[in-house]
Amino acid sequence: MDPLQSPLQYLKGVGPRRAADLQRVGLHTVEDLLYRFPIRYEDRGTFSTIASLRPGVAASVVGEVVTCGVRPTRRPRFKIFEMLVRDRTGSLRAVWFNQPFLADVFKPRQRVILYGKLELTAHGIQIQNPQYEILPADGEAEPDGAPGEPHEDETLHTGRIVPIYEKTGTLTAKMQRVLVHNALAQLPAQLPDPLPPPILARQQLADRRSALADVHFPPPGASLDELNRYRSPAQRRLIFEEFFLFQLGLVLRKRHAQLEQKPRAVVITEEVREAARRVLPFRLTGDQKTVVAEIVEDMKRPHPMNRLLQGDVGSGKTIVALMAALVAMENGFQVAFMAPTEILAEQHFITIRRLLESSRFRMTLLTGATPAKKRREIQAELAGGSIHLVVGTHALVEDPVSFRELGLAIIDEQHRFGVMQRAALRAKGLHPDVLVMTATPIPRTLALTTYGDLDVSIMRELPPGRHPIKTIAKPEARREEIYRFVAQQLDAGRQAYVIYPLVEESAKVDLRAATEMADHLAQDVFPSYRVALLHGRMKQDDKERVMGAFARGEIHILVSTTVVEVGVDVPNASVMLVEHAERFGLSQLHQLRGRVGRGPHQSYCILLYQSPLSEAGRERLKALADTADGFEIAERDLALRGPGDFFGTRQSGMPTLRVGDLLRDHRLMEEARREAIVALDDPSQAGALAAFVRSSWEQRFGLVGVG
Ligand code: ADP
Ligand code: MG
Repeated sequence: MDPLQSPLQYLKGVGPRRAADLQRVGLHTVEDLLYRFPIRYEDRGTFSTIASLRPGVAASVVGEVVTCGVRPTRRPRFKIFEMLVRDRTGSLRAVWFNQPFLADVFKPRQRVILYGKLELTAHGIQIQNPQYEILPADGEAEPDGAPGEPHEDETLHTGRIVPIYEKTGTLTAKMQRVLVHNALAQLPAQLPDPLPPPILARQQLADRRSALADVHFPPPGASLDELNRYRSPAQRRLIFEEFFLFQLGLVLRKRHAQLEQKPRAVVITEEVREAARRVLPFRLTGDQKTVVAEIVEDMKRPHPMNRLLQGDVGSGKTIVALMAALVAMENGFQVAFMAPTEILAEQHFITIRRLLESSRFRMTLLTGATPAKKRREIQAELAGGSIHLVVGTHALVEDPVSFRELGLAIIDEQHRFGVMQRAALRAKGLHPDVLVMTATPIPRTLALTTYGDLDVSIMRELPPGRHPIKTIAKPEARREEIYRFVAQQLDAGRQAYVIYPLVEESAKVDLRAATEMADHLAQDVFPSYRVALLHGRMKQDDKERVMGAFARGEIHILVSTTVVEVGVDVPNASVMLVEHAERFGLSQLHQLRGRVGRGPHQSYCILLYQSPLSEAGRERLKALADTADGFEIAERDLALRGPGDFFGTRQSGMPTLRVGDLLRDHRLMEEARREAIVALDDPSQAGALAAFVRSSWEQRFGLVGVG
């Protein structure tokens, strides 16, 4: 049996109670424990003399206990354990609060190492609650340990570079140190290694056993700086291992998909081309043409398309999707187009219906708001094949919906959907082509990992005639001035959005704020203009009415919570005024900004913020004002928030990683991907690696569906 799979309850130092505690925080096996890395390291190995200690600076000292004991205080249950330590330069008082058991730990004449910060207190200079370690008395035997592993009486908590772990449940940093030490001590000298030997050699990676020891108890001479940047040889080896295993699954998944056969591939005839030309309302941009060509090439192949289209807000993804839909429909396939919100689905529906007016294709809209009777009709027609294109929300993936022959599934703003919903839509057809679209560009650093099994198309170019949006951040105090500016825009015939953040915990309060704001704007600030309120809790009909009226220009100011965030398209709107801009994420602000600048008019994004701004808030607003490039914004957002928050949930296709970090370690990820491809091409290795992926990949990385 793999010694790393040994349950923690058999580990020295773990009783049934502790084992249960550990289980509760997800630590079941020795492997779980050893792959829980220190979050940082402290050098407690360089000793200071007592005379050289300075208040406020953490230091390690080694000395001899002169006196020690519990001292009661005036507060009844408050006890202080006090110790006097001496080295050849002087003596030092150490105190521990409420740890009377220390009386059983320390004795005079012991040699001890203390690590802590010197404080100036009312009781003089002392070191409070220091970390401690008792050194063996001279003459005690020093058994040999394997190289790179701490042997019996090597110190764990002081006197070395010490690993600092994040506390979890009842497991403190100190406890983990002890348990890790015990676990390492019982490991055999050789461990099974998932990394094939040629890779170890090529990548100059340490063997697994010593890497595990060194990552927790760095060997003498290790670089503290390297460790804290996660660049030590041991860390590199173990992170690589994790990434390699992860990439194996992605690469296999992609290969597996290429083995799938569509019932029939799409063909492009002159007739299909002509149909596309008839529908196009404008000339495609260069990027749009390129991407349409990539998509059509995929559709012509015998295996299903799996393509991600990343296009910045306003780059014109809808028409690209429509071109793909036309190709599919001309070939006799049905198409499903899924959008994350009803407003978006409706808008796509309206746009596409207008463009397809003169075509022979029948289309419909299916959302949660579709009445039951109508819904049943639609379901029957989809199953019978008389509806060629259905636009909708996640209602499309619900159970009774089935197709006669679904050939293409389009998923807009895919980051709003879970992996499950995407898979569910795909499952409505027999290996249909899949096109997913996003306006939240995935930073280059993540594209490889999150969507390693997809082909990626990118559109950066905006349609011609757009003016760059002017972005302005102003404190609340400048509100009057902003209102005057908005009035000028309205007088010139433009329209404006005013966006309110809606924080979930206080949705009611926020909604009231938005409602009051709408009233205030309508009555006091812009009495001669029509102001309307749009929010997520409104009835579907009402939302539609308001959105429609705004699109037709009958409403001048749309006060809204974030429901207009994605995809809404009103070219005459030239002002995006964001209230409490400091509460929004960077990508979210960029999306909001993308709602304007869609027509021929100069547009403005005004970010009103509440002073004082936090450091992060300032960074976000600055980043937004600095650049209009969604890809750059995504990179900065990622850097500010970290990959976990970037996509929100783990449903979104982000792997659960134990030791690696997508951002910090992205170079290693690229290496790992290359090596995974090489390894899977090698028949002597591929079998065993694929077996690993089949048995534990999904569970380990919290992802679904390898083939
Ligand atoms: P997004 O990529 O954000 O989904 P849309 O598909 O909503 O963008 O397109 C944004 C706007 O640009 C729409 O009004 C659309 O009609 C227009 N548009 C798209 N492509 C072109 C083009 N090639 N020329 C002119 N206008 C275009
Ligand atoms: Mg869109």
